[in-house]
Amino acid sequence: MVLYRKYRPKNFSQVVGQEHVTQTLQGALKTGSVAHAYLFTGPRGTGKTTIARLLAKAVNCDRAESEGVLRPEGRMYDACGVCSFCKEVEEGKAFDLVEIDAASNRGIEEIRALREGARFASARGKHKIYIIDECHQLTKEASNALLKTLEEPPVKTIFILATTEASKVLPTIASRTQRFDFKKLNSEQIVAKLQNISFTEKIDIDKNILLLIAEQSEGSLRDAESSLSKLVAFRGNKIDEEAVKEILGFIPENIFFDFFQMVKDKKKSEAVSLINNLYESGLDLDNFVKGLLGYIRKILIARASGSNLNRANPNERIQALAASFDSKYIFRLFGSFMRAQQEMKISPIPQLPLEIAVVELTED
Ligand SMILES: [Zn+2]
Repeated sequence: MVLYRKYRPKNFSQVVGQEHVTQTLQGALKTGSVAHAYLFTGPRGTGKTTIARLLAKAVNCDRAESEGVLRPEGRMYDACGVCSFCKEVEEGKAFDLVEIDAASNRGIEEIRALREGARFASARGKHKIYIIDECHQLTKEASNALLKTLEEPPVKTIFILATTEASKVLPTIASRTQRFDFKKLNSEQIVAKLQNISFTEKIDIDKNILLLIAEQSEGSLRDAESSLSKLVAFRGNKIDEEAVKEILGFIPENIFFDFFQMVKDKKKSEAVSLINNLYESGLDLDNFVKGLLGYIRKILIARASGSNLNRANPNERIQALAASFDSKYIFRLFGSFMRAQQEMKISPIPQLPLEIAVVELTED
């Protein structure tokens, strides 16, 4: 079983991060002021559809209100997980919850059906809930049909629009929704969840390695959980750094620092042979350049913050590089590696553009 599915939160209290969303939604459930349309925006893998489903569950849960007082603190106005509606949602067969994926299907048929369907309240007296994922991908016709529905919202119907690109959603649609901006999760939050999963699944993995996975997932909990699934699938329940390197194409931090140092010291042949060694070891050079650009950003931030060092991620080698590179040189590095990354896509010899970049940077 895929870990991210198995460990998908079953109620609001299990959600990692996004407290600004879950607390506001639970407040609305409590006061009976749930909006008829929401817009959930934010990066992939940050819990938009998960929270949309939890809202659907909590709104229709048979026991959310009546037994709220009997539940532990913070579990009031939340999905109970045992009533028939909660069960149906978990099994993916709740009739009153309709999920439309606008990315794979531009949606005109679905929105038309939705307009028809939304006119009739749920047969069981529950709310009808529509989750429209990647709603910025709806066709113009589908968007207009949706807009009409939002202008005259049917009773007991809730629309939850989710998108990774809020700027592409029609402003007329966005203005009729209550908007929540989901944030990328930080490494600490991701590591905590991965630790939890590892403990339950009896996966033997070091916290430092979980941190590597978290950093590579760039704030997407789903990506981090997928990476862990992949590692377990290939290596079983004992995972070391070697496995992470091999399976996730992970490049140890010190390689980046060594590389920057060689470039800075104009050690041309050493830097070029490092690239060749990486390439021959089967490493994805595209990942390497992406990593380089990521470190250039960290160096730039370290420089900009000066003595006000980033306490969340104190890294002596980044600080040292930041102190020895001036801004102009950082821009030059950035330009060279950006160009190399573009050219690598069309170069018949994948490592050549990167080698040229190194030669350029180490000459003069
Ligand atoms: Zn329930």
